[in-house]
Amino acid sequence: MIEPPDIGAAAKTRALHANAAQEDSGRRNRTELMNRIPWYPLRFEPIYQYRPWGGRRLANVLSTPLPGDDERIGEAWLISDRDECLSRVADGPLAGQTIAELIRDSPQELLGASAAHWRRFPLLLKFLDVCDRLSVQVHPTDDQTAFLPQAESGKTEAWVVLHSGAAARVYAGLDPQITAEDLRQALATRTVADYLASFTPQIGDAVLLPAGTVHSLQDVVVFEVQQNSDVTFRLDDWDRIDAKTGRRRHLQVEQALACLTFPQGMITPVLPVVEAVWPVLRERLFLCEHFGVWRLHGGSSFPVGKLATARLLVCIEGGGTLVHDEAEFAFRKGEVLLLPAAIGLCRCQTPTTVTLLEISLPESPPP
Ligand SMILES: [Zn+2]
Repeated sequence: MIEPPDIGAAAKTRALHANAAQEDSGRRNRTELMNRIPWYPLRFEPIYQYRPWGGRRLANVLSTPLPGDDERIGEAWLISDRDECLSRVADGPLAGQTIAELIRDSPQELLGASAAHWRRFPLLLKFLDVCDRLSVQVHPTDDQTAFLPQAESGKTEAWVVLHSGAAARVYAGLDPQITAEDLRQALATRTVADYLASFTPQIGDAVLLPAGTVHSLQDVVVFEVQQNSDVTFRLDDWDRIDAKTGRRRHLQVEQALACLTFPQGMITPVLPVVEAVWPVLRERLFLCEHFGVWRLHGGSSFPVGKLATARLLVCIEGGGTLVHDEAEFAFRKGEVLLLPAAIGLCRCQTPTTVTLLEISLPESPPP
């Protein structure tokens, strides 16, 4: 066997320095590029995820075809700053840049005054197509640190219903009298669903799920906004066999029960607060410490975004053009746009009507 030549300690150090210098110059070049280009609304490519409960209905929500012919697509991640799943800018001079690179190289321009709080983008945005049923699950709160891996946060999330099937059901919360012991017995007799509060959703229903709320979904398509966290504890998975693996998925019953808030009331859709009716119907759906969501519905021309503040726009119906500094950026149904703080406020124009969700980032730092 031939040994590889030993390049020696000095040569190794030189090689390491050369790599670091290359990385530094790459970063400098990127920063210079970003300083030169005018900022614009950043569109991101969706990232599709197989889920055993998924289907093909996201094709009706997005303007681009779904990958594969019969793959069960359960989730399209619209904005994600997670190492295993990084969103990339779809077009313009910054095409191909990841959200993590943008935050690292231009935090102020992207996130404005709150940039210093965030090591990574604080929210995760998704569309879900739950054809079958989502596992019955619980996410920990920011305070339940014993259940959070390093650098993870808790997960408060919210849904806006986009399609409601014939068997549609939203499971969220419990009767306040239900205890952990009741749920343990229900798991043993496979009757957990009987203990969950639930309702039949209508299109447009908006549901806020504070971390610690037990929840599931059935036969619906929803938009989902959540804290950037991937900590989920499955209490029950409806005895389902994953068609891809031929096995049941793992449950984390003890962790789920430990993170579940008792007593817990039943969750129902929020009552939207009408903030304006002209030049666009502007309804506030949620405003909590982790995110705010407004629904904008109208036509013609109206302002979107907020001065010197990063905002996200998700087009759930229609399409149009964003106008900023006399430049125009077309968008279609199903697309997500990040308005960098450097842009802040712009104008939406549409020849017909459009429905947008405008999402704000948390204003205070994580704990
Ligand atoms: Zn969840």
